[in-house]
Order: sequence, then structure tokens, then C-alpha cells
Amino acid sequence: MYETNFHKVATVTDAAALLTNAEDGMILAGGQTLIPTMKQRLASPTDLIDLSSSTLLRKISVEKRKKMGILRVDGGETVSIGAMVTHAEVAEHAELALVCPVVCSLAGNIGDPSVRHRGTIGGSVANNDPAADYPAALLALEAVIHTNLRKIPASDYFTGMFSTALNDNEIVTSISFQAPDFGGYRKFANPASRYAMVGVFISKSIKGAISVAITGAGKNGVFRHAELETTLTADWSTSAIDKVDITSKNLLSDIHADAVYRAHLIKVMAKRALV
Ligand SMILES: Cc1cc2nc3c(=O)[nH]c(=O)nc-3n(C[C@H](O)[C@H](O)[C@H](O)COP(=O)(O)OP(=O)(O)OC[C@H]3O[C@@H](n4cnc5c(N)ncnc54)[C@H](O)[C@@H]3O)c2cc1C
Repeated sequence: MYETNFHKVATVTDAAALLTNAEDGMILAGGQTLIPTMKQRLASPTDLIDLSSSTLLRKISVEKRKKMGILRVDGGETVSIGAMVTHAEVAEHAELALVCPVVCSLAGNIGDPSVRHRGTIGGSVANNDPAADYPAALLALEAVIHTNLRKIPASDYFTGMFSTALNDNEIVTSISFQAPDFGGYRKFANPASRYAMVGVFISKSIKGAISVAITGAGKNGVFRHAELETTLTADWSTSAIDKVDITSKNLLSDIHADAVYRAHLIKVMAKRALV
């Protein structure tokens, strides 16, 4: 590793000021990606700005809806997850499990225990690894990514492999979304890392809108699958998914799987996500 200045900050305002003044500053969240990248000398920030002391960024809130004066837990609750919340904290959050269990189980199947106890949702979303799990959830749930400067809809945020709409020195502060009426996620995990070789997230909003987002498979990172969405809107069944011709065009081929195999996995994972 190169020498670097380490800063521990309590607020996003302090972090933003340090980022602006540093020659080449970077936010440090869980360090699960950044530290190995620095060890390999693929990143050499002059300043590391550690957000782990920011209590505001470590909160999960679930705002329940009232119907005829009675609190409901049947979808539509507004969920907000702070950027520094770890995957383990999401996995174990009882209130979130009540309104949106799929996000808890998704988080509980990321990597291994040490990755889950250090890695954060903000770090995952800022990194936008093409095989990461959260991007599929956030795209399908039509989530909003909150930063220190603005709110970005997930549909505008994920712009390609390891690429996002974040500007230099912009900090992710939280993620928000409405709990769906139905949410299902299944991935075919790489046996070594647990990253998704293909992951499919299916969501039905409380208004009945269906979205299907795929991670791990696209040449340009996470994407929505229009044909699966149209098919499931007409016929919410695994047999309907069976009839969809999933093209391998624009899918990844790498040492783990080729594009044709990934196309096959999309169909299999979509059927599993639905039941
Ligand atoms: C062995 C292993 C297995 C893994 N398996 C999976 C898996 O199965 N599924 C999966 O989805 N992920 C997986 N991951 C990724 C992991 O879960 C983390 O999400 C990921 O490493 C990034 O989160 P972090 O908090 O560690 O971020 P860091 O490593 O600290 O940061 C990553 C990048 O994001 C930037 N950043 C961090 N936080 C912010 C912020 N708030 N605002 C702006 N920029 C920010 C940093 O500057 C850096 O560029 C795995 C990682 C490892 C090492």
C-alpha cells in the first residue's frame, strides 16, 4: 500500500469538506472492496475518509402506513437504509423482515460472515459491481439513492459496470424504497465468492406494477428485463416464464459461465424467485 492520510469523521458534511480539499480522497465504508484494491495498488488515495462513526448513516427506518386509522404491514411502507448499515444489520432487522423479508434474505446471502459484518449497502451501491446483489433489488424496487447533494432514482443511478451517476466527491447517504406487495430474489451464486453469476429480483408494487431486474449477467451491469415484466404482467406464473425466449445477446461470457448458460440461468432463477 502507498502512504495515505486516514480521517475518521462523524458527519457527512465533514467528509464532504475533506473530500473536496484532498488531492485524491476516497470514502472508506466497510473496506471489503477498497482495502484489497489498495493492497493491489489499483487504488492509491491520498486520503481515506472513514464514515464508520456517523451514527446517522447507520439507521434503518420503516414508516408504516395507516389504513382507516389502523397500522398496516401489507406493503407500501417506506423503508430507508443508511449508507453505513452493514449487510448483517439488514439481514437481522426484525421490522424490515416484517415488511420486506426479501431484502433481509438477500443481504443474509451476500459473501461470507466477515463480508456481511463489514460490507455496507452504501459501499455496495457506490461500487456497483456487476455481480452484486443490491443493485438488482434497488432497480426492481424503484428505489431512490440519496446523496449529500440530491436524490437519484435507481433507474438513472446504475449506469454500467462499476459505473454510477455519482459525481466526484458525492457521498451516498441512504437508500429508500416502498415495500412491495411481493418481492422475490434468487441467485446462482459463484461457489467461491457468493457473488451472483446470475441473480433475478422480481417485485410487484402495491399498485400491481411488476419489475424484474437481473444482476450478474449483463455486459453493462444490472438491467431490467422488459419481456419478463410484460409476460408476468399478463400471466403471473412460472409456466409463463418458461415460454419466454431469453436471448444471450448483451449477456456476459467469462471464466465462470458463457452468455448462453447465463441466459438459461435467468429463466431458472426467475422461476425460483416467483415461488
Ligand atoms: C469475498 C467477498 C465476497 C463478496 N460477495 C458478495 C456477494 O455475494 N454479493 C454482493 O453483493 N457483494 C459481495 N461482496 C461485496 C461486499 O459485500 C461489499 O458490498 C463491497 O465490498 C463494498 O462495500 P464496502 O462497505 O466494503 O465498501 P468499501 O470497500 O469501503 O468501498 C467501496 C467503494 O465505494 C466507495 N464508497 C463507499 N461508501 C460510499 C459512500 N457512502 N458514498 C460514496 N462512495 C462510497 C469507496 O470510496 C470505494 O470506492 C463481496 C466482497 C468480498 C470481499
